[in-house]
Amino acid sequence: MSGRIIKIALDSPLDMEFDYRWQPAAAGDPDPVVGQLALVPFGRREVVGVVTAVGDDSDYDAAKLRDVIALRTQLAPLPPAWMALCRFAADYYQRPLGEVMLPCLPKGLRNESTVALDRALKKLAKAATAAPSRADAAVAADLPAAPTLNPGQQAAVDAITASEGFAANLLFGVTGSGKTEVYLHAAQAVIDRERAQGRAAQVLILVPEINLTPQLEGSVRGRFPHLQVVTLHSQLAEGERLRHWIAAHQGDAAIVLGTRLSVLAAMPALKLIIVDEEHDPSYKQQEGLRYSARDLAVWRARQLDIPVVLGSATPSIESWQHASNGRYRRLDLTQRAAAHAQLPRVGLIDMEINKAPDGLSPPLVAALRARLERGEQSLLFLNRRGYAPVMHCDACGWISNCRRCTAFMVLHKPERRLRCHHCSLELRIPHACPTCGNVDLQPLGRGTQRVEEHLQVLFPEARVLRIDADSTRRKGSAQAAFDAVHRGEVDILLGTQMVAKGHDFQRLTLVGVINPDTALFSQDYRAGERLFAQLMQVAGRAGRAAIGAPAEGGDARDARAEVLVQTRYPQHPLYRALLAHDYPGFAQATLAERQSASLPPFVFQALLRAEAKQLQPALDFLQAARDLMPCEGIMMNDPVPMTITRVAGVERAQLLIECASRAQLQAFLKPWVAALREQKSRLRWSLEVDPVDI
Ligand code: ADP
Ligand code: ZN
Ligand code: ZN
Repeated sequence: MSGRIIKIALDSPLDMEFDYRWQPAAAGDPDPVVGQLALVPFGRREVVGVVTAVGDDSDYDAAKLRDVIALRTQLAPLPPAWMALCRFAADYYQRPLGEVMLPCLPKGLRNESTVALDRALKKLAKAATAAPSRADAAVAADLPAAPTLNPGQQAAVDAITASEGFAANLLFGVTGSGKTEVYLHAAQAVIDRERAQGRAAQVLILVPEINLTPQLEGSVRGRFPHLQVVTLHSQLAEGERLRHWIAAHQGDAAIVLGTRLSVLAAMPALKLIIVDEEHDPSYKQQEGLRYSARDLAVWRARQLDIPVVLGSATPSIESWQHASNGRYRRLDLTQRAAAHAQLPRVGLIDMEINKAPDGLSPPLVAALRARLERGEQSLLFLNRRGYAPVMHCDACGWISNCRRCTAFMVLHKPERRLRCHHCSLELRIPHACPTCGNVDLQPLGRGTQRVEEHLQVLFPEARVLRIDADSTRRKGSAQAAFDAVHRGEVDILLGTQMVAKGHDFQRLTLVGVINPDTALFSQDYRAGERLFAQLMQVAGRAGRAAIGAPAEGGDARDARAEVLVQTRYPQHPLYRALLAHDYPGFAQATLAERQSASLPPFVFQALLRAEAKQLQPALDFLQAARDLMPCEGIMMNDPVPMTITRVAGVERAQLLIECASRAQLQAFLKPWVAALREQKSRLRWSLEVDPVDI
């Protein structure tokens, strides 16, 4: 054959696949195949794309087609299931296929040159022939053996592994109930079953946070010393990420442990998907392809006809609803796993009665002191970094607004800076008020740095450690900080949501929550759900260790860990549910509210956003989009400025679209987005399907 026409998906905003001509360099060169990577000329550049079709016809003038430069034959083609996953994501989230496929491949695969790719392949081949290193064996020998599952865990594992086909399992297990053991045993069972039949098996484990991977990675490696385990997340060095990705793609890695982006990794022998902390907001990608890794995980499992496990102590309202109507199977773990470990006692500190000029009320201070005296650890949770969220002049009313954003500049005292958390603008702290010259500027409100300062005054002998995005900027510093906590080198740990998630802190017996109330009155209808999950999660860090049974006649309550929440609204239903550890009650009430207010999951939404130097053109664009097409059955809201309207000098507006049927919404979006693209507006706009922040 003299030449063929191939279609290629490229990372381009044009929603099409591009035709190229393939001419073998020498007779007998194999034809290209679908899923192969190819280097092609594109404009004046040379770019890598994915072959999506191979044929002999083109809709274009074949004489004008350009030639493929090279095929990446050294890499196995991407499998059809991966291609289908990307096609689904492109369709559902209304993105060009190439803008789904290419960005999710590691950089080393998209390079013009194959140096990185060839080096990675060589390294992998070498590692495959080398004997497992002694260091690995030593680590494995050091690790504790798998504990015997309790009946609840065993029932969950049995249910998950009973069927080989698609099943969506919602593992609803209270904090500390040993969900990790369920994941590990289920993975083991699936891998053993497949191997017994001479088949390869791969398991994908998704975690919400990079900071949670090391602890889980340790457990997984310890449990599967003879299997290849790889991680995939954005903090890996390029070369490492490339090798890990290829190991997954070649089927060599039996277990892939990663953050949301790993849901798009190619895994030819995938047999089980696990989504840990499935409710976590970080499963939602907020730029580019705005996907939900959890939703894609469920789709992928269905497509492959394999089981998926969604685990959480506070499932998302969507997943809870699916479990309630039977689409998902609910598996409950109602008890903490470690011997005699119990859920912590939750107490509310009424801040109308308790004054706390420095943020810490007398009962919370007393509880901290008691822990210090007993040599136990405490955790303080304040979801606000910096020293104070704003600076203020009492004399003239000046306030530290960001000049580029509709937001305040946050005071960062150790760094002696005002920082905007939206546009990263930094200024030195002014010596005097910029308007009236008053030298006595005041911090308003408090962030983690300010509480840290106060703790050092209150407890000069205590070892206080703050963990937030500021204290962990350097690579590896978060890990070092968490290690110090695990080693018992910290008395009081203070932090933002970074400390709330997933960590299995063994020495912690007190959790204090500082001022969570603002979320109660947020405009965002999901704020309550998020706050409840966050509080349950952070509360769940306490009292996880096994403890001896109480002595005869002794008071078991003494051994119980405690959670203290400072609030001005102790009667609020959200806090009442928290006191009772009652997620089902909270979820049921939330679902009822959402239903009566016609909010998700009872309607389906999409959000069109527009950005411009001025607000009006952005609103005009959205208004025009609104009137672009007839939209029967679709509810179009009015275009409105976003809550934080200006960021880095750009005005932002949005148009919310709702529909009672997902299919009908999808049917509308496709031609609508195509029509929007046709307009070739110079405004920046984007569409988000199933938006989470509105
Ligand atoms: P979760 O993820 O559900 O919050 P973890 O998986 O972190 O809980 O488990 C909590 C603790 O219980 C861990 O320290 C774990 O080692 C321990 N654990 C889990 N299963 C068992 C078991 N069957 N017997 C004893 N301890 C267990
Ligand atoms: Zn002033
Ligand atoms: Zn700003």
